[in-house]
Amino acid sequence: MLFFLKQRISLAHAKHEQKAALDVHQTKKRMFDSNFFVSLELAEIHTHLGFSVSPTMLWEIAHNQGLRLPTKNYFEFEKLVTMYESKGYEEYLMLFDLTEKIQSSPEALFLATETAVSSAYRKNNITTLELRFNPILRSRSGERDLDHLIVFAIQGMERAMLKYPVNAGLILMMDRRFTLRENEIIVEKAIKYKSRGIIGVDLAGPIHRTESSKVFRPKDILSCVREARKHELGVTVHTGETTSTDEMWEVVNNLRPDRIGHGIACVTDEKLMNILKSKRIVLETCPTSNLHTKALKNIDHMREMYKTLLQHDVPFTINTDGPEMQKISLRGEYQMLLEHNVLTKKELLTANKLAHKVSFLKKGSSI
Ligand SMILES: [Zn+2]
Repeated sequence: MLFFLKQRISLAHAKHEQKAALDVHQTKKRMFDSNFFVSLELAEIHTHLGFSVSPTMLWEIAHNQGLRLPTKNYFEFEKLVTMYESKGYEEYLMLFDLTEKIQSSPEALFLATETAVSSAYRKNNITTLELRFNPILRSRSGERDLDHLIVFAIQGMERAMLKYPVNAGLILMMDRRFTLRENEIIVEKAIKYKSRGIIGVDLAGPIHRTESSKVFRPKDILSCVREARKHELGVTVHTGETTSTDEMWEVVNNLRPDRIGHGIACVTDEKLMNILKSKRIVLETCPTSNLHTKALKNIDHMREMYKTLLQHDVPFTINTDGPEMQKISLRGEYQMLLEHNVLTKKELLTANKLAHKVSFLKKGSSI
C-alpha cells in the first residue's frame, strides 16, 4: 500500500515538474516574442487623432483653453474618453464628440498631433504613422478657420518628427453626415496642403445618427474621390465594419479606394474577397476595436475572420483605430493576435511589412 502511495506521489511530482518546465518554456517563448516585437519597427495606417491622445493630455489641453468639461473630476473625465468594454458601434463613435470638442482649436490640434506622433514612436516603435482627423468637426460650427486648424496640426506633427525618427502624414476625413459641399471642402483642403503633409482622404461617420447619414450613399462622394485621386492623394474609406457587403460593393465598384478601413464584412462574400485580392485593395483591420464595436463577437470569431482573409489571399494590415481611447497599443495587438493563435509570427510580419509598403506616405508604390 505504502509502495503504491509513494509511486503515485512520485508520478504526481514528475507531472508537476513537467508542467513547470512547460510553463518556463512558455514564459521564455512569450519573453522572446515580446522582445521580438519591441525591436520591430511598426507601421500604423489606421488611427484617429481623436482616439490617439491620452486622457491626461486631453485634460491638459482642455484646461489650457479654459474649456468647460462635463465634469470637474479627472477620474470621471477619464471614463468619458476611454472605452473599457464592448459597447457597440454608435456608442463607440459618441466618444469622439468630446475629444473632437477638446481638439477644436489650432493650439489644441498642434499639441494633439505632436503628442500622438511622439507617443506612437516612444511607446510602440512606430516609424510609419498615418493619423486621420476631420477639421470641420473641430471648427466649432464654423467659428474656427479650417486653414489655421490644418496648418497647426501639420506643425505639431512636424515638431514630433524633429524629435523622433517617425515618418508621419495626415489624412483628412469626409463624413457621412456632411453635405456634398462640406465633403468637397475637405478634399479641397487636402489638395491645398498635399505638399505640406496631408497624404490622403477618408470617409467615416455614424450611419444612423442623422437624417443625412441615414440616406447617405458612398457614390454621393464620387466627384470628391475623383478629385483627390487626380491630385494623387491616397483614398481610404470606412466600410464593411458594421455596414453590409452591399455597401462594400458600392465602395469598391464606384469609389475604387486604395484601401478600406476595416472591411471585415467581406469574409461572407467570396466574390467580393476575390475582387479585393485582384484589385489589391488593402484592408486596414483593427482587431480590438472590432470587439469594442461588436463587429466581432469574440476571439474565436476574430480567428475565423483572419483565417478566411488568409485563405482568399485578401491583403490586410493590423492597426489600432485609436490606442489611447481603447487603452491598447499596436505592439499589444500584435502580441494578442500571436498569443491567441489568431495569426502566426510570419503572418504578422507580412501584415506589418505591407502596412509600411502601402502607406500613403509612399504613394505610388503598389503591392
Ligand atoms: Zn476608424
